Amino acid sequence: MTQKIVIGVDIGTTSTKAIAIDVKGRVLAHHAVDYPLLRPEPAAAEQDPQQIFEAVTTVIQSCAAQCRAKQADTQVLAVSFSAAMHSLIAIDGDDQPLTHSITWADNRAAPWAERIGAEWDGLAIYRRTGTPIHPMSPLAKLVWLRHEKPELFARTRRFVGIKEFVFHRLFGQWVVDHSIASATGLFNLERLDWDEGALVMAGIEADQLATPRPTTDSLRGLPASLAESLGLPADTPFVLGANDGVLSNLGVNAIQRGEVAVTIGTSGAMRCVVDRPLTDAEGRTFCYALTQDHWVVGGPVNNGGIILRWVRDEFAAAETETAKRLGIDPYEVLTRIAERVSPGAEGLLFHPFLAGERAPYWDARLRGSFFGLGMHHGKEHMIRAALEGVIFNLYSILPAVEAVAGTSRAIKATGGFARSPMWRQMMADVFNRDVIVPESFESSCLGAAVLALYALGHVESLDVVADMVGATHRHSPDPESAALYDQLKPVFLSLPHKLQDEYRTLAAFQQRVGSRALNSSQ
Ligand code: ADP
Repeated sequence: MTQKIVIGVDIGTTSTKAIAIDVKGRVLAHHAVDYPLLRPEPAAAEQDPQQIFEAVTTVIQSCAAQCRAKQADTQVLAVSFSAAMHSLIAIDGDDQPLTHSITWADNRAAPWAERIGAEWDGLAIYRRTGTPIHPMSPLAKLVWLRHEKPELFARTRRFVGIKEFVFHRLFGQWVVDHSIASATGLFNLERLDWDEGALVMAGIEADQLATPRPTTDSLRGLPASLAESLGLPADTPFVLGANDGVLSNLGVNAIQRGEVAVTIGTSGAMRCVVDRPLTDAEGRTFCYALTQDHWVVGGPVNNGGIILRWVRDEFAAAETETAKRLGIDPYEVLTRIAERVSPGAEGLLFHPFLAGERAPYWDARLRGSFFGLGMHHGKEHMIRAALEGVIFNLYSILPAVEAVAGTSRAIKATGGFARSPMWRQMMADVFNRDVIVPESFESSCLGAAVLALYALGHVESLDVVADMVGATHRHSPDPESAALYDQLKPVFLSLPHKLQDEYRTLAAFQQRVGSRALNSSQ
């Protein structure tokens, strides 16, 4: 019998990955290709688009070949795409890139994002486009290029993202799915087309951007040479797909009402699915498209697992040494030390804003602090407070997400933090909700593949993902711990608002002193 497969590709910031699944969601093959993030100047974070295109063709070719090696009679029903959001590439009149792909992590547009927010009615643009005003967004990057690199800006025929670049290399067409478009800050969510006001601010015309199309649309007709090198028939449908965040929600089976996906890797994010575009009156949450009747509302945080890494590197040299000698993961040693202290760290709070913060504050000038230190607090309290601070920080987004998307019931938790049973239980206790850890293997690739099955009519709805993704751990809140956390939440949540002026003064001081130190060392 013919083996029917779908290949889901995720074009990420450090690698491009692909998986091949059958129509039941079983993973039959996977492949990843890494590439560097380029930092030609301190605030820059770029990638070589040609290198990424080559990674994309390699992973597709490899997954198809692996499946055929297992069963010669294999039919590739579709190839479908996830990609990192917010990338921007300037393209000339001969369709050649004039810049690298400027990624979400690039911070050079920061002063312009601030002006858009403070002086140019950024909130109104956010409410139409669903993308928070931030240097990550292509809108802010365009304003930056327009003002600071006017020659390049004038020479540019069109501005595209990395997925558009890949589709153009494959099919010779400039198309963008509604999901990637909805994360540009230039796309009107209600009209599903480029937003006039945002285009005026960016200083470009709509024909300088790709043509927006539904995420379920597909292109066929690969050139013969490409079809041959990929090992696919030329008429294989390539589904446009969506962005990596919304597809991750699908890939961890968090698409039902009331289900919230929370990821804590190096950074973190909270997301849930609603049935129409919804934005926040205060600009705290994003809203990105998955399909025309599935939209994802949520917020990203800078300060996730990176905080535990900082604790490990700055405070726990001795513990790390011991862990290494015993062959144990240092993170495990740290979470065990934190377990010696009761929930709430005996009244010690830690605000983890070491890298400023995105949702819900969107303020790069926030700074971290321990609050409530007493003589009875030791290192173990500080470690516990840091772990709790990361969870409280994600919890801080919940009121904004619930204000937009309605009450949440359960959490689907993913990312490196979920390796720790105590950190998972802490999440259940702080959120006072059940925490379920889904079996997530390359969730954005799986999401892309499931979207393709739906787009091409092989399954009736996206709900099939529930049969494909099981659970590896479940935690219910402990009432006593939850009650303790309930007493601390208001203090944790109110401080960042009360200290706004102080954060600003201190951040400015750090910048002055930091730049003097930098200058004197040159
Ligand atoms: P990325 O987001 O870069 O893909 P991961 O999802 O692997 O990274 O998350 C990395 C983070 O996960 C680390 O910074 C650390 O905070 C956390 N982590 C990893 N292993 C453990 C562990 N055994 N216990 C607790 N936390 C862990």
